[in-house]
Amino acid sequence: MLRTAPLQAITFDLDDTLWDNHGVMVATETGHYGWLDRELTGWLNARGQPASPSFGERFPLEAFEQRRRALARAHPLRRGDFTWLRERALREMLGEYGLDPASARLWASAAMERFMELRHRVEPHPEVEPLLAGLSRNYRLASITNGNVEVQRLPLGRHFPVAIAAGEMLAPKPDPRPFLAALAHLGIPPGRALHVGDSWREDVEPARRLGMQVAWISPHVDTSPMPPHIYRLDHVRELPALLRRLGQKVPQ
Ligand SMILES: [Mg+2]
Repeated sequence: MLRTAPLQAITFDLDDTLWDNHGVMVATETGHYGWLDRELTGWLNARGQPASPSFGERFPLEAFEQRRRALARAHPLRRGDFTWLRERALREMLGEYGLDPASARLWASAAMERFMELRHRVEPHPEVEPLLAGLSRNYRLASITNGNVEVQRLPLGRHFPVAIAAGEMLAPKPDPRPFLAALAHLGIPPGRALHVGDSWREDVEPARRLGMQVAWISPHVDTSPMPPHIYRLDHVRELPALLRRLGQKVPQ
């Protein structure tokens, strides 16, 4: 058995750690943009204003992506604040489409509401709810995400007394500050905490540098030996077995 100092806290990345993100992201992206195109066309028609080309024809999805990338370059501090980038890009394009500033603001904000509704239709892996319920009896838990899922809007949010949105604090991972913020809120030193995440660059490296233990969720078969204090798992469901191997408390 590998012995480590008794762990007191576990921090979790969200996207692609507690659920698969790709499907929901594609559905969210096309869903809210299509909604905006349809609703805006109807609104313009009802006001006797032609909507040809429609907003989506004038600005296809790729144009929206390019606009967000350009905004991220122009506002480097905001580069990880995806909600801000999206709303700002929509507002700019709606203005260029011909809407007055107040209408552009209104429609951008309505589209973002639709975006957030679709974005939260994530489906955590079935093992996650019982896993978190068990772990929360022995450890303090926090979430640290670069994405724009507000974990408290999900049923499993109740297991996270601390939820850090790194992009909105203008310090997206691999910046160490969201990790330090989570640990400070929990009142636990890095050496007594384990971080669980799927990204080598954004989860494993920064957490390890701070002295945390790390569970790296990487389903790709990789037999290369891991550096000390980094443990590769195929799936988050393997976390209890890892804790057992480390001589830590395991939920019953
Ligand atoms: Mg992730």
